[in-house]
Amino acid sequence: MAKVALSGKTLPEIEEFIQAMGEPAFRARQLHSWIYSKQACSFEQMTNLSITCRQKLASIAQIPLITLSHLQISKDNTRKYLFALPDEQLIEAVLMSFTDRASLSACVSSQVGCAVGCTFCATGYMGFTRNLTAQEIVDQVMCIARESGQRIANVVYMGQGEPLLNIEEVIKSLHLLINSVGIGARHLTVSTSGIVPGIKRLAAEKLPITLALSLHHPDQLTREQIVPIAKKFQLPELMRSLRDYANATGRRVTIEYVLLKGVTDTPEQAHALAELVRDVHCNINLIPYNPTLNAASKMPLYGRPSLAAQMAFKQIAERTGKTVTIRLQRGADIDAACGQLHNKLSSQGPCNNTSCS
Ligand code: SAH
Ligand code: SF4
Repeated sequence: MAKVALSGKTLPEIEEFIQAMGEPAFRARQLHSWIYSKQACSFEQMTNLSITCRQKLASIAQIPLITLSHLQISKDNTRKYLFALPDEQLIEAVLMSFTDRASLSACVSSQVGCAVGCTFCATGYMGFTRNLTAQEIVDQVMCIARESGQRIANVVYMGQGEPLLNIEEVIKSLHLLINSVGIGARHLTVSTSGIVPGIKRLAAEKLPITLALSLHHPDQLTREQIVPIAKKFQLPELMRSLRDYANATGRRVTIEYVLLKGVTDTPEQAHALAELVRDVHCNINLIPYNPTLNAASKMPLYGRPSLAAQMAFKQIAERTGKTVTIRLQRGADIDAACGQLHNKLSSQGPCNNTSCS
């Protein structure tokens, strides 16, 4: 019989498991603390549990749910993980450390593949396979913590998948990260291509989580060509949902904007972007395109703008007083952007690339 995986389970779920084992109820809190606070890798480490209990646990349970299939470490210390899920599907996660900040950030996947199909994104080229469970999402963070021996301070939902199309499991995972793993809500970021019902559902939780909107173009029609789901959720409604989110949570939202040479990076578009978000409580994060090989053409569909073009765009976007940053590329030497490693190893296609950079 398959062993029960405990990492990524909630305290009530662990209590239920302990009860079914016939162990006293207080064991559940002990197990919970070993898994989340002490990041235990084995039951032998759990020295306040009797030897018989530890042996019994080892025979019917295991700590991780997902398994590490491949790890790459870059020169800048970015660690890129390829994880196998219980049904052998593969997903990616990344651990990033920044020299100017002491804290570590984990970038996690929320789905296997993605149905949104953005034209510049390797995960979009893969298509959608399935949603992840909350346990599979949280265990990515715990596996990274156990493997690296480090405490994770921030989690960003910017790996594979559209988190707000898996909203209930994502919300459950956010509560687990806050209550079990001990990461403050202010250190969690959920990134979306603009799923309005999902934004409203997340706002209703009234948690001070950062919402990042992948806007990518200030004009409705061109945005639809880059982010096809934009046809369903149009800009006026989307902008309204951002303002409501900021009001409900008290949090400034992040506007993510991919810079595609000649498509989204012109001075006119920088002016239009600044105007569009003028009355939204937000920061703007510009993401220079990471070239990805399109599955059909075997060529990147876009070019990456020069540094000068990136800076010129930034200066215009700053004119309405918003903070505008340009995202640093992390782990470029190890395919650290999600989608890339999986595609390379599974030889399903060309070397792709998406987020987390
Ligand atoms: N599905 C969610 C979260 C995952 S993608 C979303 O789209 O927001 C995380 C971020 O990486 C998004 O802003 C996405 O647009 C960006 N991204 C994906 N592929 C990229 C690429 N090739 N170059 C630059 N940014 C990319
Ligand atoms: Fe999906 Fe986000 Fe990639 Fe678009 S950018 S295809 S929403 S993962």
